[in-house]
Amino acid sequence: MATSSTVQVSLPMPRIPRSRKTPAEIAAAAPVPGERSVLLAAPRGYCAGVDRAVIAVEKALEHYGAPVYVRKQIVHNLHVVSTLEARGAIFVEENDEVPEGALVVFSAHGVSPAVVASAADRGLRTIDATCPLVTKVHKEAVRFAKDDYEILLIGHEGHEEVEGTYGEAPEHTQIVNNPAEADTIEVSNPDKLIWLSQTTLSVDETMETVRRLRARFPNLQDPPSDDICYATTNRQAAIKAIAPQSDLVIVVGSSNSSNSVRLVEVALEHGAKAAHRVDYASEVDESWLVGVGTVGVTSGASVPEVLVREVLALLADYGYGTVEEVTTAQEDILFSLPKEIRAKLKEAGDDSRGPGGRITVSDISS
Ligand code: SF4
Repeated sequence: MATSSTVQVSLPMPRIPRSRKTPAEIAAAAPVPGERSVLLAAPRGYCAGVDRAVIAVEKALEHYGAPVYVRKQIVHNLHVVSTLEARGAIFVEENDEVPEGALVVFSAHGVSPAVVASAADRGLRTIDATCPLVTKVHKEAVRFAKDDYEILLIGHEGHEEVEGTYGEAPEHTQIVNNPAEADTIEVSNPDKLIWLSQTTLSVDETMETVRRLRARFPNLQDPPSDDICYATTNRQAAIKAIAPQSDLVIVVGSSNSSNSVRLVEVALEHGAKAAHRVDYASEVDESWLVGVGTVGVTSGASVPEVLVREVLALLADYGYGTVEEVTTAQEDILFSLPKEIRAKLKEAGDDSRGPGGRITVSDISS
């Protein structure tokens, strides 16, 4: 059940420079009859897996010292990556860009066994920041491949998470990118077939893909538990709740963030008149606000809350100062930090993240 509360926002000044229009110029630029308001989706922003991964890099920098190498973007967010870069993280595409013997962090999206092996070959010290919910899907792939199942992995080819999961059992796995591919894919044994999925897909589109697969392969098995994670599911449910009342939805998130891009699609599918994704408040185009009474706002699972606050501050400048937060679920999931970091924190007597390296909110979030 969705709950809502209305607040007058009192926000810090945004750090992103914006146009210096007068209030009269702004009102003239975005004419709209009646009240202007914001519906703010909750849950939004950081999930437990992203928070864990970002803190793993922060703590690695603190306790091992810069540079700390990170294979791929630790999470798919420009602001997070550039902030960590400024602190001494070096982001690389592959292990062969990391000096032999250096420390490398594997990103939240997970890696295939081949990547782990290549790091070992190079004598790299590793910290595995793979989200535990991605690891769960990897374990499912290994288990079903061992039992000689054919795996249909629903996900986007080329996405790092899909590469990692596929790499666990390439001989047993085919990737299904979308519902249309479900109509054409061929399998060798339709009676020993299971589908798994990327964690950040559209719930509705994935169910449509499964429906079409099952129409062709009635004995297709479901995964033991949902692969699309709680954070993806909750953020999509929240945007569905506000989209029908929104003339415009703004999703804060990066272009390579699968779950952020899905939020734009879900908003449009569920009644938003328009929806756009931005990395920063400075990307909000004034023309989007023309004739708009209600703006829905949300953010992807890799987005620090500070970036949402900057969008809200910008909207307040345009007269959208009343913010109603619509909450569709409460989240209290926390993951322990990667074991390598926990050991380092213990050795250093660092309990700033609580017993056992449990975490709350990353420094970058606030
Ligand atoms: S979006 Fe889901 S799977 Fe991805 S890091 Fe967050 S909790 Fe983990």
